[in-house]
Parts: sequence; C-alpha cells; structure tokens
Amino acid sequence: MSNYQSLGIRPIINAFATLTKLGGSIMPPEVVQAMQDASNCFVDLHELQRKVGERLAELTQNEAAYVSSGAAAGLLLATAACVAGKNPELIERFPHLDGLKNEVIVQHSHRNGYDYAVRETGIKLIEIGTMDGTSEANLRQALSDKTAAIFWFQGAMNKPSELALEKVIAIANQHDIPVIVDAAAQLPPVENLWKFTKMGAALAVFSGGKDLSGPQSSGLVLGRKDLIEAIRMHGAPNHAVGRPMKVGKEELMGLLTAVERYLKLDHAARAKLFEDRVKFWNEGLSSIEGVTVTRDYPNEAGQPAPRTMVSFSNKFNKDEIIQNLWEGEPCIAVAPTSGNGILLNPMTLNEGEPEIVLQRLKEVLA
Ligand SMILES: *Cc1c(COP(=O)(O)O)cnc(C)c1O
Repeated sequence: MSNYQSLGIRPIINAFATLTKLGGSIMPPEVVQAMQDASNCFVDLHELQRKVGERLAELTQNEAAYVSSGAAAGLLLATAACVAGKNPELIERFPHLDGLKNEVIVQHSHRNGYDYAVRETGIKLIEIGTMDGTSEANLRQALSDKTAAIFWFQGAMNKPSELALEKVIAIANQHDIPVIVDAAAQLPPVENLWKFTKMGAALAVFSGGKDLSGPQSSGLVLGRKDLIEAIRMHGAPNHAVGRPMKVGKEELMGLLTAVERYLKLDHAARAKLFEDRVKFWNEGLSSIEGVTVTRDYPNEAGQPAPRTMVSFSNKFNKDEIIQNLWEGEPCIAVAPTSGNGILLNPMTLNEGEPEIVLQRLKEVLA
C-alpha cells in the first residue's frame, strides 16, 4: 500500500463490480506467488504459451486454449484468426483486408464498447436486426462468402427478442462459419468455461482479471484447436497484429494458477456468502426513512449473483450519495441505478468490508 500512498493514491473499497477502471479484482496469494515464481527465470515463451494452453484446455474441458492479455485482446485475436487463419501472407495484411473474408456479423442489440476490439482489425461489422429483435432471416441474408465470423456478446444485453445462441450456432454450422462468444464477465457460473463451446461455439473468450481473479492483463480464449493455433500465429511474441498485446510469463503462470484455484472453489459457499451480504445490507438499511431496499438479481453482467438495490425517495439524490461515499474515508465505489438509487455488489469485497459499506452508507444517509 505504501507505494500507492507515496503517489497520493487512495485505496478504494469496491462495492461496484469487477471494473477494470477500479483495478478489476484482487489476486489471491497463490496467484501472486505463481507470478513471482515465474519472474525468476527465463523461459521459451512459445513453449510456455503452448504448455499452459494445453493444461488450461484440459482443465476447462476444451479442445485448446490460449492466454491473451485480456478478453478484449482475445476478441481481437479471435477475429484475426477467423479472417486470416494460419496463412503467413494474410497474417501480414491487417488492417487492410480488401479481398479477404472481412465481414463479421453481430446482432444490433449486442453492440457495445468492446466490439471496437473486433473492428480494430479492419473488418467490416455487419449489424443485423434492431433493438426490437433479430430474426433468422436477418442472419441468413447477412451471410455471404465474405463472412469471417459471427460474434455473440453474452451479458445483460441479451433479450428474448434476439436470435438465440443455439439458433445462431445451428445456422452458422450450416455454412461452416465460426461463432465467437464474448463471455468476458460470465463467471460465475464456473460451468460457462465449457458451456458455450460444448453448445458449438467455435471460441469463448473470458477475462482473466474479473471473477477468475487472475492477473489484470490476462484473458482466456477457449475452443477449437485450429483457431487457437491460428491465434498463436497472430499473437505475441510473433510480429503480427497481436504483438502489442503482449502476455508475459508471469501472466501465463498467474492465469493458470487462477483457473486451477477457481475450479476448486466451493462455488455454493461463495453464492451463499454473497446472499448473506445482501441480506445483511437489506436488513441494516430497511428501517431508514426514504430508503427502499430490494434484492436485485441477476447482476449487471447477468451473473447468477445478487446485489442490494437501494432506492431513494426524493429526500435523497443518488449522485450526491455516490459522491459522498467516494470522497469519504475510506473511499467506496458503488453503482448507480437508472432511477434514483444505488446498487451494492457483494462480489468484489474483502472480509470486513460489507460492514464498512453499511456503516458509511448509514452515515451518509443520516
Ligand atoms: C470486461 C469485458 C471485456 C474486456 O475484458 P478485459 O479482460 O478487461 O479485456 C470484454 N467484453 C465484455 C462483455 C466485458 O464485460
């Protein structure tokens, strides 16, 4: 902590979410240890990436795996692999993709900030459907001999009116087009590590720095062997489109350790801990005038985890409360609701912090 303090940086109690801008997640000691051990000697990075990938594939019940420098980098590399495959001449072409399979299809309702990582390669994004929904015909009409991949963003954006993932995969398979699932924040549940690829998605991409609690600059790409082999060629340390998204030996060993740990966690006990924290907050806040508390479920990423939603009467203003929590001592980050309220997330807190959050919030509301 002293290095942060020397810069005048205040530590934050994160009751918001695994947000990159707040530092993502906290690495458990075994992950830190694995990174430190990895930093002690030189290794052949190509070999390490391959061996770590093989182990991760086995652990997650996938054909193959690759460690990227984050889920966003994984999206970019997956796109590159679908466009240029393992062809050394095409690998050099980015971002000039005329004459290649340079179109990627995405449902309009799935558009979000992270699709820039896909567009960054130089592909043309073909949007299908509207905010009101997507039909099978929309997808069929968009498919062409230029289609490199179909991207699916999993999360709070998913709606019943969209074309379901099963349907997208079935249609894509008829045309031999890979479906890539952005599942960056889709842990828990742990089963998602194999669910999307077992459903038939070609690749599923996860963030290493969210609930996995691996290194912040790590991501996990899981799925088809041929595509993972192509991704290796596009990725660092090769001089290709992924070279600026370098993954170090420390991240490789750190993420492997984080995944090993994650698979062994008692996920039922964690789910109960989150429920207990939400119950604790709801009880602690329920008798305050002008405040209504409810259990909000699922959370902002669509994860099966609860949050406490605190709704205010016009006696309070959510922006002032958020600001007071942020500027107070200690600094606490919480999410706003779309109305006049805030959300408390139990997943990113250390032991003892739910109590601090409750106490500070009561003080701010008093
Ligand atoms: C967090 C997130 C990403 C980016 O993950 P990083 O590991 O930070 O690169 C991509 N897509 C979605 C939907 C996310 O939630």
